[in-house]
Amino acid sequence: MTPEEELAPIKGVAYMDGRFVPLAEAAIPVVDRGFVRSDVTYDALHAWKGRIFRLDDHISRFEASMRGLHMSLPHSGAEIAGILKDCVRRAGLRDAFIMVVCSRGVPPPGTRDPRLCRNRLYAWAQPFMNIAEPRQQAEGFRMILAKTQRIPSESLDQRIKNFHWLDLTMGLFEAYERDATVAILPAADGTITEGPGFNIFIVKDGVLATPAHGMFEGITRRTVTEIAADLQLRCEIRPVRAEEVLAADEIFTSTTAGGINSVTWYEGHAVGDGRAGPITRRIHDLYWQRHDDPALNTPVDDAH
Ligand code: PLP
Repeated sequence: MTPEEELAPIKGVAYMDGRFVPLAEAAIPVVDRGFVRSDVTYDALHAWKGRIFRLDDHISRFEASMRGLHMSLPHSGAEIAGILKDCVRRAGLRDAFIMVVCSRGVPPPGTRDPRLCRNRLYAWAQPFMNIAEPRQQAEGFRMILAKTQRIPSESLDQRIKNFHWLDLTMGLFEAYERDATVAILPAADGTITEGPGFNIFIVKDGVLATPAHGMFEGITRRTVTEIAADLQLRCEIRPVRAEEVLAADEIFTSTTAGGINSVTWYEGHAVGDGRAGPITRRIHDLYWQRHDDPALNTPVDDAH
């Protein structure tokens, strides 16, 4: 297969530092520090039925990530939001997965000083995707606790969304070796953090818990905590120990790329009766119901 044939099935539209192009043709300079140093931040959003979910929250988080890395763009938040809507519209998508990236850019010849780079905006919309294939969504995830530890927040503030994914990717290989589909990564202190592209929740005796530190603070996670409050369910944001995951009645993941997915097998054992539990199912349904709330969803056809 030629490289062109490999890219041909990729559908979508990208905005690459000032120009809209078909996603299959979107390219960055290889000398961009975003590529050679992972000197980059991003955010991932989704559109559902032609409306972007929690657009303002994503833009605020993206701007905070940029500030955290001493990056800036010559665009207001509203302008960035307009570019994202444009990508979705131009791609002709109603249900879309959207990426917005700020890369450090290309250092002037003869220097390695990140301050001298012009930061670049890359964004794209492609068909909506779930971190799991349909069969895994239906049956629930098989999850392991990886031996690979998550990069600690003391080294890299995990609240800044980043492409330092090799720990997460190694965790995935551990999962595949053990006939599982996903992994969660521990911290050095025996608590759990998150997995490749998702946050984690456990349910025990009707109480939810999700890790407080060492992971990315997902917007889906925030939505789950709000749903739990509406349901008058206790939801604790605190360190969660690995043993608690083993003893959980229900486990589920939360992410923009698919929403809520139940974990039905963990570390060699069925979770609960081996099917999605009642609290997971309720939160899953209410999460998708929230996509009908005009306060949380911005039409991509809005003027900007
Ligand atoms: N943790 C990591 C490492 C992620 O990459 C993601 C999503 O991209 C999440 C958590 C979940 O965040 P959100 O709910 O905002 O998609």
